[in-house]
Amino acid sequence: MAYNAVETITRKRDGGRLADDQIRWLIDAYTRGAVADEQMSAMAMAVFFQGLDDRELGVWTDAMIASGQRADFTGLSRYAVDKHSTGGVGDKITLPLAPLVAACGAAVPQLSGRGLGHTGGTLDKMEAIPGWRADLSDEAMRAQLDRIGAVICAAGAGLAPADKKLYALRDVTGTIEAIPLICSSIMSKKIAEGAAGLVLDVKVGSGAFMKTPERARELATRMVGLGHAAGVQTVALLTDMSTPLGLAVGNALEVAESVEVLAGGGPADVVELTLTLAREMVAMAGLDADPAAVLASGKAMDVWRAMVTAQGGDPDAPLPVARHTEVVTAEASGYLTRLDALGVGVASWRLGAGRTRKEDAVQAGAGITLHAKPGDPVVAGRPLLTLHTDTPERFADARAALAGAIVIGPTPPEPVPLVWDRIAP
Ligand code: URA
Repeated sequence: MAYNAVETITRKRDGGRLADDQIRWLIDAYTRGAVADEQMSAMAMAVFFQGLDDRELGVWTDAMIASGQRADFTGLSRYAVDKHSTGGVGDKITLPLAPLVAACGAAVPQLSGRGLGHTGGTLDKMEAIPGWRADLSDEAMRAQLDRIGAVICAAGAGLAPADKKLYALRDVTGTIEAIPLICSSIMSKKIAEGAAGLVLDVKVGSGAFMKTPERARELATRMVGLGHAAGVQTVALLTDMSTPLGLAVGNALEVAESVEVLAGGGPADVVELTLTLAREMVAMAGLDADPAAVLASGKAMDVWRAMVTAQGGDPDAPLPVARHTEVVTAEASGYLTRLDALGVGVASWRLGAGRTRKEDAVQAGAGITLHAKPGDPVVAGRPLLTLHTDTPERFADARAALAGAIVIGPTPPEPVPLVWDRIAP
């Protein structure tokens, strides 16, 4: 049957169901350029308001996968398990997690991206390490996975090209937040990457895409369903993103904190989330290793060093340091009751840690170090945050982003759980 873009858009706009081959036609025609950007924008807005049911979502995701190549790791000697985070402030978990899970015996391919907006990208963080290269050929990636067990590298252009085009369009048409479009965007790439298992870290809170546990649960449930239907073992954890993870936000600062975790130290929340995700991945791989014991043994640090070296990086080289710092002090004594993730993320971005357009460069040393977390006692006039940048004219804008993000009260706040929920098929 021949389909037509306007009829397809109006059907969805009016709340109708799309036929399987109508969805396949739409995604293919859009990828080839036969459906115009303005038509796909209208379609994305129709989906934003009317949604996609489970069958439509499955076919939509499948069609996005079919727009490109599909990798598979079945020839590897280890079980391949992947982790994906929906993105948060100070979320450096991939850095200690990938070598830890590899040290437990699995293969961990982390095909990652660069950051846009207030959440940092994993590649930007790794690129703070002198000499480290993100671009690997498929052969080099597989060889590294087989030999070392972990690889963090750039996702190739051949993976779900329909998503690349549609994501860029959504970014400029106010349609990023549609749950079915987020699900199909993330899961088309993750399924095409070819790992046998996938652990999703769905962030909830001010610094995340999903501001409430209800929306995060819906996103997680639908993504788990898509993974399962595609034959990928999938589990999702809903984790807190109301305040930054750890005490470091910004590329080199987060690498340093990740190395502390691998060395057996690091902030409690980063260690806890790394171990929680590692336990899920290790269980999925059917391994009987204890991630806490493996971390304590130093084997994860050995894998980190091998992984960085294999990609041209020097694990012993000093990390870049910003040329200027400024301290933000507590305005009152009491307890830090709120340190808002979004405010800190935007401030760090304005200091130069993130980019506005994808062609912008990032400052490796820029970012924010936290001297207190929500619940900690603070004293008026004592340091709360240190801002880092190479370009001191940015301090004022960063401070403006922090207005309202720091709240000090007379009593400690109710503790917020790090892991809100676990969603399994
Ligand atoms: N990350 C993605 O890859 N896609 C989305 O739609 C949202 C976050």
